Amino acid sequence: MSLPARRVLIIGGGFSGMSAAIQLRKLSVEVDLVEIDEDWRTDGAGITVSGPSLRAIEAIGVLPQFRQQGVVFSGVEQYTADGVLINAIPTPPVPGSSIAGGGGIMRPVLAKILADETRQSGTAVRLGVTFEKIEQTPDAAHVTFSDGTSDTYDLVIGADGVFSSVRSALFAGAPTPRYTGQGVWRAVVPRFGVESAQMFLAKDGKVGFTPVSEEEMYLYYTDRRPTKERIPQELLLPTLKSLLAEFAAPVVTKIREHLSETSQILYRPLEGMLMPLPWYDKRVLLIGDCVHATTPHLASGAGMGHEDAVVLAEEFKRGGSLEQALERYQHRRWERCRMIVANSGRLGEIESTGGSKEEHAQIMSLSMSALLAPI
Ligand SMILES: Cc1cc2nc3c(=O)[nH]c(=O)nc-3n(C[C@H](O)[C@H](O)[C@H](O)COP(=O)(O)OP(=O)(O)OC[C@H]3O[C@@H](n4cnc5c(N)ncnc54)[C@H](O)[C@@H]3O)c2cc1C
Repeated sequence: MSLPARRVLIIGGGFSGMSAAIQLRKLSVEVDLVEIDEDWRTDGAGITVSGPSLRAIEAIGVLPQFRQQGVVFSGVEQYTADGVLINAIPTPPVPGSSIAGGGGIMRPVLAKILADETRQSGTAVRLGVTFEKIEQTPDAAHVTFSDGTSDTYDLVIGADGVFSSVRSALFAGAPTPRYTGQGVWRAVVPRFGVESAQMFLAKDGKVGFTPVSEEEMYLYYTDRRPTKERIPQELLLPTLKSLLAEFAAPVVTKIREHLSETSQILYRPLEGMLMPLPWYDKRVLLIGDCVHATTPHLASGAGMGHEDAVVLAEEFKRGGSLEQALERYQHRRWERCRMIVANSGRLGEIESTGGSKEEHAQIMSLSMSALLAPI
């Protein structure tokens, strides 16, 4: 098979970088991956996985491990803060997938599944290493690494996330992430009988639950904060408890009572960015959050990264020059990723301004059905 690139370097071992490594190795591309974190960690929260994201996970080949170690369920329910059902959004089978509905899993569990698969694929992984310099000639990209080594590749893929160093080093004028005025609180709690994804909308915030294992679910609370803040550790528990006091729904009340000093609570300001095309410059391509970092309102950011990998490998397989493959790739990815970033941003605005719950529900439904389209 004549491939557009035979030797590829991936910078960043998150969901997007690992998925790309696995997919390119299936075509026998020689893949090196460098990850800056020597322990290859991810944060200890859960993740909601939509049906379309599960389709990509299936294409990558790790659906059996996901089913075994995560949870698959159907439907998303939206309630008022008091627990009155507003909208039950069905999650029909996704064309091209063997699986109906969506799912949830702990982030470190999904990261380990993908890291094991990446290593088994024959990708050469180096941890605690990053790039220092990337120089492009017409035929190759020459990379100097932080451990003093250097190498030459046909293609370098920047998959180093929303604050990408590859983007800032090589794409002058690229947009930078923008704080959206919302932050997300996360914690892992017992399921208290919750069987599928649920969210409760109050005037100032939204709380949601996603089952991530037989016993546990992941709680997220999206809250309005005009400035980007770091919340001191000792304030995490009392602040989250007071935010949840706005919800009278019985399940939220039970969780509020359950939260204690031993609960692991995380707070993160939400930032988003969408880089206009092109997403490549000669022999350097950006994927995942480097170019389309969405807020989590449609639970699709990680899924977009998995899909990037699936589409990139398909376009590699179709052949032609590297430029032709990267052009086809970015045109297939643009509208879907743009829609996710824009609609997630609008959902955040509605939540921040106490806007129309009907518009919120409508955007959710429209976006979820748009995502069913083939990638
Ligand atoms: C609060 C929150 C909740 C979310 N919830 C969901 C959800 O429920 N469902 C969903 O689908 N998505 C969700 N997302 C989005 C999802 O987390 C991201 O879209 C996804 O993690 C992007 O993956 P990535 O691999 O592109 O980037 P990242 O996950 O950021 O991975 C980048 C990797 O590159 C490494 N790296 C960074 N710099 C360098 C460097 N210079 N050299 C080498 N390596 C480097 C990092 O250590 C990291 O391993 C959420 C996001 C947030 C902020």
